[in-house]
Amino acid sequence: MFSKFTTLLSAATLGLAGLTSLAQAQDATLNIYSARHYPTDEALYGNFTKSTGIKINRVDADDAGILARLKAEGAASPADVILLVDAARLAKGDSDGLFAPIKSAVLQAAIPPQYQARPNAQGEVAWFGFSTRARVVVYDKLRVKKEDVDTYEELGDPKNKGRLCIRSGSHPYNLSLFGAVMVHLGEKATEDWLKGMVANMARSPKGGDTDQIRAVASGECGVALTNTYYLARLMRSAKPEDQALMEKVGVVFPNQNSWGTHLNIAGAAVARNAKNTAAAVKFLEYLASPSAQEHFANGNNEWPVAKGVSLSNPALQTLGGSFKSETIPISEVGANQVKVQQMLDRVGFR
Ligand code: FE
Repeated sequence: MFSKFTTLLSAATLGLAGLTSLAQAQDATLNIYSARHYPTDEALYGNFTKSTGIKINRVDADDAGILARLKAEGAASPADVILLVDAARLAKGDSDGLFAPIKSAVLQAAIPPQYQARPNAQGEVAWFGFSTRARVVVYDKLRVKKEDVDTYEELGDPKNKGRLCIRSGSHPYNLSLFGAVMVHLGEKATEDWLKGMVANMARSPKGGDTDQIRAVASGECGVALTNTYYLARLMRSAKPEDQALMEKVGVVFPNQNSWGTHLNIAGAAVARNAKNTAAAVKFLEYLASPSAQEHFANGNNEWPVAKGVSLSNPALQTLGGSFKSETIPISEVGANQVKVQQMLDRVGFR
């Protein structure tokens, strides 16, 4: 209300020229709601401001918190850009109408179609993925044979009874993995698999991915799932206890002989009620540039997605080198999320 008032006032007192310069001044700040919990992103934002003069005002929350806030704020939301760290949440934001689909020749050329939302009838795209992370298996090298845990399916096999540690089934990283498995295996087999995993649990789901890695290293569990960047972080850590941890666990990129390892994305969208749409699109296009891709992905030990951008990250190289990843459109994964949640409730996967 206040800004509308000042705009009117300026228009009246300064004439059209005054209005234009005021509008430009307002354009100079971009409001970003971000679920990226990585301090290395600071340089990324700083470089954008340096090269465009557009300041960034960031609000940090997790994916669910950001979507809830956007919904509550409605048309009054100051958000221009939304950064989320999961495909299912990006799909949810889209289906809830919280994003403004955009047309950008730069983005559509730079980002492979597999990592974009499906275009609408007007050819506009609601969100773009900017980096990928793989969801991999870690296992106790002393107790567990690699051959017994080198597919996702085997995590639900009775031979792994009492071994599995996992974070909550309802966490976006797991919801997206389970949604992907449903694309590959179908509904019936996926629910049986989830039931098998519940039967194999060494303890009730709790903690984050790093807690699962620690629990494998301590011997509490034989096998667990984690996103790759948590492993890379431990590998690059200077702390002796982190090094010792990584000595104890083996890492497998699952399903190399079938559909490939599940990839999730971190991505971005323009907010439905963005006041600075042009600057927001400019920021997304910046994220697809080679230097930003390097920060965006390498800063958090992820893989960049833009065509022609490759990255040398020794930790990622040691972890995966080149591996086979699944090739399904990431938008399909999000579409399964409601069904997956119902399955989790049915099989008692907390
Ligand atoms: Fe994370």
